[in-house]
Amino acid sequence: MALLDVENLKVYYFTREGAVKAADDVSFSVDKDETLGLIGESGCGKTTVVFALLRFVTPPGRIVGGKIVFEGNDIITMSDEEMRHLRGKGISMVFQGAQSALNPVMTIGRQITEGILEHEDVSKEEAWERAEKQLELVGIGSDRIKNYPHEFSGGMKQRAMIAIATACNPGLLILDEPVTGLDVIVQRQLLALINNLRVELRLPIIFITHDLSVIAETCDKVVVMYAGKVVEQASAVSLYENPVHPYSQGLIRSYPSAKGKRKELKSIPGAPPRLVNPPRGCRFHPRCPYAMDICGEEEPAFREKDGHLVACHLIK
Ligand code: SF4
Repeated sequence: MALLDVENLKVYYFTREGAVKAADDVSFSVDKDETLGLIGESGCGKTTVVFALLRFVTPPGRIVGGKIVFEGNDIITMSDEEMRHLRGKGISMVFQGAQSALNPVMTIGRQITEGILEHEDVSKEEAWERAEKQLELVGIGSDRIKNYPHEFSGGMKQRAMIAIATACNPGLLILDEPVTGLDVIVQRQLLALINNLRVELRLPIIFITHDLSVIAETCDKVVVMYAGKVVEQASAVSLYENPVHPYSQGLIRSYPSAKGKRKELKSIPGAPPRLVNPPRGCRFHPRCPYAMDICGEEEPAFREKDGHLVACHLIK
């Protein structure tokens, strides 16, 4: 049994204009010891999906269908008390732009111990010792435990957020765009830290990003989302080297290669559709260079090609 199974998840936002189908029939799984990359342009539903995993979807949004099973328990039907325990101890998340979520008037040490004391039956002294170890783990150093957030650089704040998120040894860590907005050197340091967490602690991770080269370095497998739908799933290396879905191919062409092979960058023409009224058939068809008549009429089913699961009429 997988650690996390997401089956046909639907998350809609009910607006005056109609239902915004932010996640529509999304399915994927994460195994123990596995790092999953969730990738796509802004607004394609990645963050909606992980918010649903923690039941953070608030009105006018609602989970309207599907299942989210974590360690054998359906998250959608859990009580509020069970959810309180799950958040932080079961599934922990570092939100996008999380550096600004640090409390400016509390030391980093206190911010790490808060979660430990809330979720575990330990003394303050023990929690403090654990906080020191967490700071060592993320490469900040325990001597900074009494520092305030304003004494940290952007990269250190992001490390501190990871220290807080992993303090209770969660079963699954979600990182939402953890390196976006940081300079290249700090990005590389953070990616090395994330790799360390996944290899040494064997911590399962869901890594959200719009940059496939980052996924290729850090993830075991990848789920590509477009306009609220999953369009391709494959191992990270295979998807990076040999993307099958035209949208995945476009995404790869739009980013510099981490291995320095790609010389010319080409953006995908057009923009993702409004999800209140997405295109019929394949949602990518208005932007797809290979679109055929059937693409605007019929939603493509998933088919297997070279170990990839792909939703595209080109795959027979
Ligand atoms: Fe392009 Fe058609 Fe495939 Fe969609 S189904 S990606 S429009 S070829």
